[in-house]
Amino acid sequence: MTTSVIVIGGGLVGTSTAYFTAREGLDVTLIEQETIGYGASGRNPGFVWLHCRNAGWALDVSFAGRKLYDELKEDLPVSFEFRADGGLIYFTDERQAPVFEEFVAARRSDGLDMELIDGKAVRELVKPIREDVLGASFCANDAQINTPTVVAALAAGAREAGATIREHETVLEVIYDGDRAAGVRTTNGTYFADYVVVASGAWTEKLMAASGVDARVGRERLQVIATKPLPAQIRPVVYGPLTAKQYELFRALPSWDESAFLSPIEIETGSWMLTLAAQRANGEILLGCPMDYPADVDLSPTLSGIRATAENIGQDFPGLKDAAIDRIWAGVLPFTSDMVPIIDEAAPGLIVAAGHVFGNSSGPMTGKLVSQLIRGISPEIDLTEVRWGRTLDPIVPGVAVHW
Ligand SMILES: Cc1cc2nc3c(=O)[nH]c(=O)nc-3n(C[C@H](O)[C@H](O)[C@H](O)COP(=O)(O)OP(=O)(O)OC[C@H]3O[C@@H](n4cnc5c(N)ncnc54)[C@H](O)[C@@H]3O)c2cc1C
Repeated sequence: MTTSVIVIGGGLVGTSTAYFTAREGLDVTLIEQETIGYGASGRNPGFVWLHCRNAGWALDVSFAGRKLYDELKEDLPVSFEFRADGGLIYFTDERQAPVFEEFVAARRSDGLDMELIDGKAVRELVKPIREDVLGASFCANDAQINTPTVVAALAAGAREAGATIREHETVLEVIYDGDRAAGVRTTNGTYFADYVVVASGAWTEKLMAASGVDARVGRERLQVIATKPLPAQIRPVVYGPLTAKQYELFRALPSWDESAFLSPIEIETGSWMLTLAAQRANGEILLGCPMDYPADVDLSPTLSGIRATAENIGQDFPGLKDAAIDRIWAGVLPFTSDMVPIIDEAAPGLIVAAGHVFGNSSGPMTGKLVSQLIRGISPEIDLTEVRWGRTLDPIVPGVAVHW
């Protein structure tokens, strides 16, 4: 008899799970409360970012995930936008320079193709940036995707392999037969299956609570501004110096000094900036991102967030000061207290695949790993670090986390 699978959520994780399971002949139904790509996967600026991935599971899955894009380009029935032009974190203050020197040396020893480049090289790669930029860490392993196009291509691949995708239908709870997950109850009815895969991103804590399960997946909101299309002027994906303090990798360096990476607008608004810029193939430039930690999934941009972005980007990218704005949005990124996702059979028949901070590099790989778990094949990346039963701290809304 064919194994049946219900996947909850149509983001990178859910659509890749549907694709990799349907491709192996399993009977797959994906249920999405809105439309495919409605969550974080449809709202993020597309950094396939190995640059700051912690050594261990995070870096291993990211190397594998980066490589997987080459296969997906060949195998999926529709194309998606992918560019392998590397990524950089620029710096503008003399006090930041020694931190970047240490950072690059440490990352090279972790196996990344990284170098320190000077201000002139940065200006050649990122035309609208400020004249006095001093340098950057540049990582050739980084790449860029137009994330909604990847989700759409994975969904097309899943459909082509026989999966059913049901949009505008919300899963209300997972139902059980004794200890075993037996299906889901939705706004449309009840469905039974051999396996239920929870790929509901930042909504996971709420969904699992409906069945009395404590899933410690938090919510971090990031806001994005998209310009109208502009001539090509930014090749790599770009982070600014304020972003460094979001990463434990930077914070753990001997020369780390947080005061050199903090701006007045962050102190005033009480929320940190993940300064970033990325230009898509159609010319639009995505800019961001202020971060905060709402109690529930809140997809509204805020005036203070947009003001902080405008001030920070306005200062660092004078070449964009007159850029016309096309759209503004917010997305909510899922996370766990140890910053790697949960990918495991949490109860018989119930697979949790949620809590992805860096889903662009790890999301498509997760679908492949979940397919291997369901088929009883040893996963090609060891899943000990991302097991369900590990100790995770409870999520406290409003409290900032580092990645
Ligand atoms: C602004 C922003 C910037 C980011 N930048 C990057 C980046 O540069 N690089 C990177 O790697 N990552 C980035 N991320 C994180 C990345 O987007 C996530 O890691 C990834 O999208 C998670 O994918 P997912 O499939 O787990 O979740 P999601 O994409 O959120 O998908 C979950 C889906 O489940 C659906 N769902 C939820 N509950 C239910 C239910 N009860 N019933 C049915 N459907 C349900 C939701 O509607 C949603 O579509 C960013 C995130 C944001 C918001």
